[in-house]
Amino acid sequence: MDHKRGEGVMLPRCCISGYVGAVAASDPLRVLLRLCPVLLCALLLSGCLQSPVPPYPAYRRTAGPPKPSEVIVRRVAYFDGARTIHHEVGPGETISLVARMYGVSPESICRENGLRPNEALRSGQILTIRDVRSVRYVLYLYRTRPWSYIIIHHTATYDGDATTIQWAHLARGFWNGLGYDFVIDNGTLGKGDGVIEMSPRWLRQEDGAHCKADDMNQRGIGIALVGNFDRDRPTRYQLESLAYLIFILRHYYHIPPSHVMGHGQVPGARTDCPGKLFPMNFLRWAAQR
Ligand SMILES: [Zn+2]
Repeated sequence: MDHKRGEGVMLPRCCISGYVGAVAASDPLRVLLRLCPVLLCALLLSGCLQSPVPPYPAYRRTAGPPKPSEVIVRRVAYFDGARTIHHEVGPGETISLVARMYGVSPESICRENGLRPNEALRSGQILTIRDVRSVRYVLYLYRTRPWSYIIIHHTATYDGDATTIQWAHLARGFWNGLGYDFVIDNGTLGKGDGVIEMSPRWLRQEDGAHCKADDMNQRGIGIALVGNFDRDRPTRYQLESLAYLIFILRHYYHIPPSHVMGHGQVPGARTDCPGKLFPMNFLRWAAQR
């Protein structure tokens, strides 16, 4: 997690009023004539500055999310037995993604929840999923960006999931909400312990907003574990999921072990994230697999 506002990405501001105010003259007609080019420039500038200027050069909005090159589905180990689950839709989740997460058909989700096929879901919407036989996390991998680092964070909160962090980051002014690429849940707020959630940024393969230092928002995949590891330690299932996620990403993107690091290890990042109690030995081990 970013602890300093300077690490976040603030929205661009338009500031042209000082320029117009600098014109001074006594004759109203002369004032108008002198103001005309200034106002014209100001309007042009204003039009430019108020257009959606991307905060990062690499940011490009596409018509739709890119298609993943590979989809990996993995069961969360501790869940066994059929039951009904009330799933809170995370940011960017679709009916087909949720169906994969619980091993049920998209049709059964639509039928149970009165949805049309491929209907867009809202973040925070509750879906009833019946006959769940396993809880899984789903990883989409893309060939479209050459990610070269993996940066680990904690959320510095006791509880949370992708939805609550999305709102928290929007409130802090982070560009486009949830700043990480992946969130690993800790079993709070109804999410399974160790469940990996993909963020909308990852699904669109956009730049991150998790580590400004050393251009890691452009180069590094941001993974956040829910929890405050200045006071607690990650859960066993979170660490298992983290090791697995690092393994998958590192081999898929050919990321060397030395490029897997905690936020505080990034040159220029002045933070103790992912927390004083985060097991760095475990991270070094996970990065070697
Ligand atoms: Zn951090």
